Amino acid sequence: MNLIENRSLKDCNTFGIEVNARYFAEITREEEVVPLLSSLKPDQRPLLILGDGSNILFTDDFPGTVIRINTKGIAVLNDDSEAVILRVSAGEEWDEVVEYCVEQGWGGIENLSLIPGRMGAAPIQNIGAYGVELKEVLLELEAIHLETGEPRTFKREECRFGYRESIFKTTLRGHYLILHVTLKLSKKPQLNLEYGSIRKELDQAGNSSPTLHDVREVVCRIRRSKLPDPSVNGNAGSFFRNPVIRSDQFELLKKQYPSVISYPDPNGVKLAAAWLIEQCNWKGKRTGDAGVHPDQPLVLVNYGNATGQEILDLAALIRQSVLSRFGILLEPEVNIF
Ligand code: FAD
Ligand code: NAP
Repeated sequence: MNLIENRSLKDCNTFGIEVNARYFAEITREEEVVPLLSSLKPDQRPLLILGDGSNILFTDDFPGTVIRINTKGIAVLNDDSEAVILRVSAGEEWDEVVEYCVEQGWGGIENLSLIPGRMGAAPIQNIGAYGVELKEVLLELEAIHLETGEPRTFKREECRFGYRESIFKTTLRGHYLILHVTLKLSKKPQLNLEYGSIRKELDQAGNSSPTLHDVREVVCRIRRSKLPDPSVNGNAGSFFRNPVIRSDQFELLKKQYPSVISYPDPNGVKLAAAWLIEQCNWKGKRTGDAGVHPDQPLVLVNYGNATGQEILDLAALIRQSVLSRFGILLEPEVNIF
């Protein structure tokens, strides 16, 4: 296994932040993982497992070894008249998995079309969009402990999935490398069209009996029209998670701010973080090359040569003003290193 020294990570993170990894390795075959882990010397740790870097903000050079997972393969484990069970390698591009499933007529992830990143990273924050979350189709995942090299299978319940969260973002953060994810997709899918403008777009096109493919197309179209393309302006999607607050806290807030954008949530009320940020006048603000997107205030942008620290400083100012005005602490969704 080749360890590259002092490799730039600029092309490995969608924010386009210029930092170096002290060591860098690319895994293309799963058999390489355990030998690599056991060959690393103490000064070549800590480790950071990387997919496409679309949910990461680097604020400094990484002092240990960055391991990028590029293993490929989709295996059908079971196939009957109701459902199909797939074992997907961690290095598969998520949207290619979605496209493949839609082409086969297997439903459940079409609303998650066009989310950047690789399969192995998708469980980390239980990726979600347009009313669907990965946890709805994930059966289990196989991972390797980064210290001991021991394999472990995590059943869905053990992943402790929550809203943009899992055990791999909390108590087991940085402890495991995910190698495979097993998904169950339906051959008789129930389409989820009630979120955002999916239904409206289909109605406008006169489509009253949409297929999986139609839903994927609509989601891709809406996303392309609304979301900034990281290849044009560096970003990692939503920088903050939408906060969920208690219902009594929400009632007070609503009295003071009747226009607050909110949605019911099993744990209380979910607020649109974008609305909170916009109310604090951050939309479109820019300091040097670090800015708040003019249309999507939840997205922080690197307009060229911003450092990770400059993006983080901007995020801290936004958090402070939302806290001062609304008494709500925004939590970053992006993983900060
Ligand atoms: P990376 O950024 O490389 O890694 C993210 C985290 O996962 C890091 O902590 C990393 O160490 C860890 N990790 C990565 N791979 C592994 C592995 N194999 N084993 C163990 N740990 C690993 N997210 C959503 O949920 N919904 C959206 O709709 C959405 N839209 C986005 C739109 C844009 C324009 C962008 C830039 C991002 C968006 N995101 C969205 C965030 C991002 O795409 C997802 O979080 C995605 O799953 C990250 O995948 P990645 O391969 O880029 O992970
Ligand atoms: P949007 O449709 O304009 O909606 C704005 C916010 O309101 C979203 O954050 C969404 O919450 C919430 N929302 C809208 N309709 C809702 C409903 N019916 N029930 C509950 N909550 C609702 O959002 P957008 O920015 O264009 O993004 C569309 C989808 O893609 C969203 O699901 C969003 O999460 C996802 N996305 C995520 C990222 C990321 O980096 N995480 C980046 C881009 C887009 P939710 O976020 O909880 O869905």
